[in-house]
Amino acid sequence: MSFVTDLRCDRCAAVWPHRDPVLLCPACGGVLDAHYDLGAISLDRILSSPPGVWRWHELLPVEDARHFVDIGAGDSPLIHCPQLSSWIGAQVLVKYEGQQPTGSLKDRSFAVAMAKAAELGVRGAITYSSGNAAASFAAHANHIGLPGLILVNAWADRAKLAALYAFGMPVVLLDWSDFRHVEAMMAHAVGVMGIYGFVNFQNPWRHEGYKTYAYENWLDLGRRVPHHQIHPIGTGGGIFGSWKGYRDLIALGWTDSMPRLHGTQPALCASVVTAFRNGAAEASPEGDPTATIAEAVASNLPLDAGRRPLRAIRETGGQAVAITDDEMRDGIRRLGREGIFAEPAGASTVWAAKHLAESGAIRPDETVVLLVTATGLKQPEAVPLAELPRMNATTGDLERIVKQWMK
Ligand SMILES: [Zn+2]
Repeated sequence: MSFVTDLRCDRCAAVWPHRDPVLLCPACGGVLDAHYDLGAISLDRILSSPPGVWRWHELLPVEDARHFVDIGAGDSPLIHCPQLSSWIGAQVLVKYEGQQPTGSLKDRSFAVAMAKAAELGVRGAITYSSGNAAASFAAHANHIGLPGLILVNAWADRAKLAALYAFGMPVVLLDWSDFRHVEAMMAHAVGVMGIYGFVNFQNPWRHEGYKTYAYENWLDLGRRVPHHQIHPIGTGGGIFGSWKGYRDLIALGWTDSMPRLHGTQPALCASVVTAFRNGAAEASPEGDPTATIAEAVASNLPLDAGRRPLRAIRETGGQAVAITDDEMRDGIRRLGREGIFAEPAGASTVWAAKHLAESGAIRPDETVVLLVTATGLKQPEAVPLAELPRMNATTGDLERIVKQWMK
């Protein structure tokens, strides 16, 4: 059972039926957003369901349970991090999306969007991705036998390409220097060629899956929301979806407070951060997306010019923070000391929390959830390896090495 009612256009406010396979607004080409009638949601029913994305199906857009696509998305751990808490000066928890079925946050969104596509009778699909979404798309489409085509950044880490190869879906390497060309090309695929697409926001169902961040955090914190949440911004689906989820919790009367939602971008291409500082409603192209190690979120301009993440940040009193590649590498090391292996984009949240705490925006008694959006196994080449010592299997070498390393 779902309480979804319709889709509405961000730009022209036109209303469209959710049971039609509309993607972008047929009237103006704007991005669409789903609305719900929350009056009949039952927390008892939700809590009696097994954990995972589909526990929250009443708040998601898929009406018939036979269409749920479930390879294990959702229910990632919320990990208390004592060393980060002490260093940052706040109560720091990591929501670790590296434990999702394909190792990234994208599984939340593809579980939902793929199920909706199945319900709509979609027969084939296309997506563009920096790599993480591509793996999730392939896994979820394969699971329901939906044929697809993946366009992936030509410079994606080999680990991401290996996963795609294993999934066996057709993959084409895509070269681009200005994301507006990718956005226009994918809008053409959807609007002119009539292909069903899965690019976040151009597909109105992907970000619905990220509402489950808010629900899970609320449940894991003892039915309270955190004071702050920090999420890297690619297109902004994670932060915008979180905002919808937290608004649901308030509308349902399950909490009366909204976390401050902060977003990070790589300093080498920080168009949303610049727009935030300038008080602009939309971002302008900036930087070189191939120059940063944060390949999962690198873009000179997010889709729809970053309007949605900017709204989510401003309306919750959050901030947009630019993080250098060196800070991301340091974030990877600091998360590693908590037992968490992060890819660079997810590790950007560590120094964002540090900067926000230093500026007084985060106080010592406040809870901060860092969204570590994917496992470091996605991008092992981002971790510089030092020369490692070597030994032979002899007692002499063992004694020498132990003396050196176990003082
Ligand atoms: Zn419209």
